[in-house]
Amino acid sequence: MTTLTAAATDTLKSYNPATGELVGEIPATPIGEIDQIVARARAAQPAWRALGADQRAAIIAPAGAQLVARADELGLLLTREMGKPLPEAVGEIKDCGESLDKALREIAEALEPDQLEDDKVTSTIYHDPFGVCAGITPWNFPLMMPHETVIPALMAGNTVVLKPSEETPLIAQAYVDLLNEFLPADVLQIIHGADDQGKALVQSEVDMIAFTGSRATGKHILGSASASLKRVILELGGKDPLVVLDDADIKAAAKFAVDNSFRNAGQVCVSTERIYVDDKIADAFEREVVQLAGDLKTGDGMEDDVNVGPMINDTQRDHVLKQIRAAVNQGAHVAFGGADHPEHFILPTVLTNVTHDMDIMRDETFGPVACIERFTDPDEAIALANDTPYGLGAVVFGGDQQRTAEVARRLDAGMIGINKGCGGASGSPWVGAKQSGFGYHSGKAGHRQFTQPRVVSVRK
Ligand code: ADP
Repeated sequence: MTTLTAAATDTLKSYNPATGELVGEIPATPIGEIDQIVARARAAQPAWRALGADQRAAIIAPAGAQLVARADELGLLLTREMGKPLPEAVGEIKDCGESLDKALREIAEALEPDQLEDDKVTSTIYHDPFGVCAGITPWNFPLMMPHETVIPALMAGNTVVLKPSEETPLIAQAYVDLLNEFLPADVLQIIHGADDQGKALVQSEVDMIAFTGSRATGKHILGSASASLKRVILELGGKDPLVVLDDADIKAAAKFAVDNSFRNAGQVCVSTERIYVDDKIADAFEREVVQLAGDLKTGDGMEDDVNVGPMINDTQRDHVLKQIRAAVNQGAHVAFGGADHPEHFILPTVLTNVTHDMDIMRDETFGPVACIERFTDPDEAIALANDTPYGLGAVVFGGDQQRTAEVARRLDAGMIGINKGCGGASGSPWVGAKQSGFGYHSGKAGHRQFTQPRVVSVRK
């Protein structure tokens, strides 16, 4: 039993981050109920497991068409609750729906047993579920993050208790309700609340925890989970560098820098957080970045043509503003953006003359800021890019293929893009190096992390 306490009557209020208006309320799950919820998940698990992957896929599959059919309606809720531009919200939901069939097939294949033999022994390696999986997810992709956690966990034969972010409980509830139109009872349950509910879930009798969120919370979860050696997958933050070499296509590099610094108001774990550009092309690159940043429209995600929505809450806005102000005090130049940001928003900001010792180049920003530091030698750029405890994504733009590829190989990150973003081909893992992750998702090896390998051997 957990020893944490919270009032049984607590309510989560969900506010529109663009306007401050109340979007809706949902009861927080009393801490004392979490053990019973996990017990129900455990009771439902043997029958869910016994179905086998193909039947589980057949049960889940119709949810894909429903996500697509309801994308417009759910997108409105997502934007009102989280703030991102409506087309991006609708796109997030449609993508999850449209890719579901393929994902289910890919996961079912990853769960197929392996056969191994040597001259004496034949072994079958099964990929069995752990039991009950806790999913703890953030608010920045408030439908996709639950989806990417829940689907592989369920497909592996686990039952799931999801705790979505307290910032976006309504869209997560709508997602779980939609899946539960198809799933047997108690196979997927949801609990609502903030840190206390998250902690209680981690300390409950779940067998594994799949967490996406901040590095600080990830460390905390890993510590708590160690008491009973629960299996843990942590997808944590980043401080992704973009290195622009002297022979790069400047327009393409600047376009990538702007797209990837300001998308989702910079509230993306693989946002470009640091830009290192060769001194020889820095003037031209900075001019191009400023010009492209000037084309962006900031505002309520419900308005037409908005590219940059609000910050999720005042705490996050204050954190970003503090980093910008500290950088400016230390000599950074505001090439675009300015000091006056409307309530709830940070205008896209381009900082030049930035140096590596500033907080904004060290601690995760998670806001719409492009920070540009110049280098004179690619070795220096690589050293700066790697001088961080984070290692999620990294990107290098360059002309000469071999030289650019060599720089890419020396960047200490889990996913490295050459003249493109860091995401890999379909079937690649989504993986952070260093303190950006512990375990990983997606691809055959990622799907298998929701399973316990069991080796059954017989003499030949
Ligand atoms: P973010 O601010 O990016 O959402 P957090 O790490 O603060 O990142 O939160 C991610 C998720 O983890 C949210 O669902 C949050 O409620 C939950 N959470 C926060 N603190 C804890 C904790 N100590 N144990 C478990 N879950 C937590």
